Amino acid sequence: MNNDITMPRSLNYIDGQWCHGGDREIPVYNPADGSQIGSIPCSDAATVDKAVKAARAGFENPEWRNLAPMAREALLHRLANLIEENAEQLAKIESLDNGKPIAFSSTLDVPLCTSWFRYFAGWCSKLSGKSLNPALQAAGSHHVYTRREPIGVVGAIVPWNFPLVLAVWKLAPALAAGCTVVIKPAELTPYSVLKLAELVDQAGFPKGVFNVVLGDGSTGQAIVDHPGVNKISFTGSTAVGKSILRSVSHDLKRVTLELGGKSPTIIMPDADMSLAIPGATQAAFVNSGQICFAGTRLFAPRKHFEQILDGVADAASSFKIGPGLDPTSMLGPVISQKQMDGIFTRIDSSVQQGASLHSGGKRIGDAGYFIEPTILVTDDNQNPAFREEFFGPVLTATPYDDLDELVALANDSSYGLAAHVYTSQLNAAHQLAAKLEAGTVWVNTQLSPDPNIPFGGFKQSGWGRENGEDVFEHYLETKSVIMSLGN
Ligand code: NAD
Ligand code: MN
Repeated sequence: MNNDITMPRSLNYIDGQWCHGGDREIPVYNPADGSQIGSIPCSDAATVDKAVKAARAGFENPEWRNLAPMAREALLHRLANLIEENAEQLAKIESLDNGKPIAFSSTLDVPLCTSWFRYFAGWCSKLSGKSLNPALQAAGSHHVYTRREPIGVVGAIVPWNFPLVLAVWKLAPALAAGCTVVIKPAELTPYSVLKLAELVDQAGFPKGVFNVVLGDGSTGQAIVDHPGVNKISFTGSTAVGKSILRSVSHDLKRVTLELGGKSPTIIMPDADMSLAIPGATQAAFVNSGQICFAGTRLFAPRKHFEQILDGVADAASSFKIGPGLDPTSMLGPVISQKQMDGIFTRIDSSVQQGASLHSGGKRIGDAGYFIEPTILVTDDNQNPAFREEFFGPVLTATPYDDLDELVALANDSSYGLAAHVYTSQLNAAHQLAAKLEAGTVWVNTQLSPDPNIPFGGFKQSGWGRENGEDVFEHYLETKSVIMSLGN
């Protein structure tokens, strides 16, 4: 099935060169059948050091540092063009490596990457400081301005659920800001970022501007610990996010974190069910539930509860489950044996602690890591199904009786990444949007990130916002220049 895929080299890309790093190799698997598709170096601290030094030299290099903003913009557009030209290969690589349906990777993941580079290309020429008047000095006595300077070397660490998209969410603004990057893709899904490195090379970025270091958590830790890195941009688990914060406490390098979620989908009694039911189903199960902002807690009015649950279960069972490279698949496997085992352990302990299994709950086949779309029901806010991120195709449904109770229920989470609301009442929509503790609230729609719209978490879902103009706060430092005019 994968004969027409040309895999990129399984090597680090540092200072414009493909190179090994470390003595250990990490096998990489196809989650649709468990077969090994390659192996990557588990790069050691010395290799990370080489990459960070290359990125530092790249940052100091006048060919990058002094490049006219519109020349940087042109480079980003050239990269976007190359992604378009290589879209089919990129989508296939992503589907092979991650397991996600090609129907999504070819229409969503890869086109989103092109859009992100094009959108951020436009920002290159719009990042400026301001001229200011000091408040305590005589008018006209000083010339004061701010400069917005690229923060320097960015260490980007990304997960496996959207390997290319989440990498590009960091790369596009970091490069637009004039930073240089050392990126570590997840060890489970390294290949689309390696293919991107080939395209960066072809696009003609100066060497050292973009570096890929392969490896596992130990490699990520070496990036976090490296004193030459100015900023860490991390997407992944809340546990690792917290450990990164502890690690950077010794040098206070800048950090942004996009972490987990347990986002509510709220169906109001007046909702248009022909919108709400397929919407709630997609919010929970697309990408096999491996989306940080998936709508994994469904709140439905008690009097429509059974009807809504049956509707969601029906809609979910209509998704064809199969290997990512099969063009008819709508749901792929979860990423790994370990992830699958963890999901089943959580389903079991939720049921043992009183949740009921409405539908699904079983593995499909015995090759690959396919799990049936699963619905658990609980009204116990201490049940793991209510509290914990499963990161798989599992939806937890809870009935509600009145609207005051609803907001408290929806906000009863240590996370606060997103929320989905389905209602036909304008006032209810805006009132809920204001009360929900979530970085993004979708109303009568779901799962639609946009490069111009800030995205990030309240509470333990993270620090900082990606996308939109807001993201530049994290890739630029503000410098104030105060000059006496001598009068
Ligand atoms: P993870 O946090 O362990 O891994 C994410 C990235 O961080 C990977 O590249 C990994 O190699 C790296 N990493 C691991 N330990 C590190 C360390 N100490 N220092 C620096 N980098 C380190 O996440 P995972 O194991 O891939 O997934 C586990 C859970 O994370 C999932 O079940 C899910 O709950 C959550 N997750 C969230 C997102 C999201 O988009 N927010 C994405 C994937 C996974
Ligand atoms: Mn893989």
